[in-house]
Amino acid sequence: MYVEMKIVRSVREMQRMSESLRNTGKIISFVPTMGYFHEGHLSLMREGRKRGDCLMVSIYVNPTQFGPGEDFERYPRDFERDRNLADGVGVDVIFSPDDREMYPEYYQTNVNVERVTQNLCGLSRPGHFRGVTTVCAKLFNSVKPHVTIFGKKDFQQFVTIKRMVQDLNMDLEVVGMPTVREADGIAMSSRNVYLKAHERESALSLSRSLKMAKGMYEKGERNARNILEAVKKFIEEHPYTRIDYVKICDTTTLEDVDHLQGETVLALAVRIDKTRLIDNYVFGDVLDI
Ligand code: AMP
Repeated sequence: MYVEMKIVRSVREMQRMSESLRNTGKIISFVPTMGYFHEGHLSLMREGRKRGDCLMVSIYVNPTQFGPGEDFERYPRDFERDRNLADGVGVDVIFSPDDREMYPEYYQTNVNVERVTQNLCGLSRPGHFRGVTTVCAKLFNSVKPHVTIFGKKDFQQFVTIKRMVQDLNMDLEVVGMPTVREADGIAMSSRNVYLKAHERESALSLSRSLKMAKGMYEKGERNARNILEAVKKFIEEHPYTRIDYVKICDTTTLEDVDHLQGETVLALAVRIDKTRLIDNYVFGDVLDI
């Protein structure tokens, strides 16, 4: 679209640029991120490239989605590296506002999606999804996209954003993309840089337990408790692991289920020492491990 990739820091400038593109009939696709790109991010951008004339990517480490004592300060950041990677996949605009631009003085309005944010990460990270939906609503109002692409690695986030877009009548298509994994099966995450060499084997217990659950499902197991017990036992056998949750939920309501009926997801959050990792598997889907 543009000859050279542009960097935009101001909301007003972003809005003006998007408005004029929309007025000339261009389709805007948008990938919101917190930066420190890996192949997971790049896969969303490639999808965005296919779906729009103009591909916008935001890089913003949003303070309001981190709780007290979480890793906001030490979250990995490398703008130059991200800029080069984005350029390589044909991003047109990087939108990277600072905190004052996103949350000006007297800021006091939030978006809250009620029920699907209660379970899973909502239990251990109170306020997290309120931060996510609020910043996404603000980013959507800045970038004015026609289509936005999210990773299903953050399954609850994907469901929550779809809910918000539908509930608030936003004129926006939300696309979900499969989880991109390392060769050994670990779901790619900017937080994987926190893992020390001796912790990686333990981190592998997440994806391996999903594979085990998939095997049980394929042999006909439909009792959630049996699968959950096997998964917990498997993860707990690995050193340094501390389970935050292991749950099987309906993919629409994200409420716990006893029996695997309709579309259900096995969702995990596990701490490996100080690093909290998440992963999930929608029963019946492919799992590339
Ligand atoms: P983040 O920068 O971690 O906030 O992630 C930005 C987007 O990338 C979100 O939509 C994530 O779900 C997505 N994402 C993160 N990791 C992966 C992955 N391993 N595979 C696919 N998408 C991912």
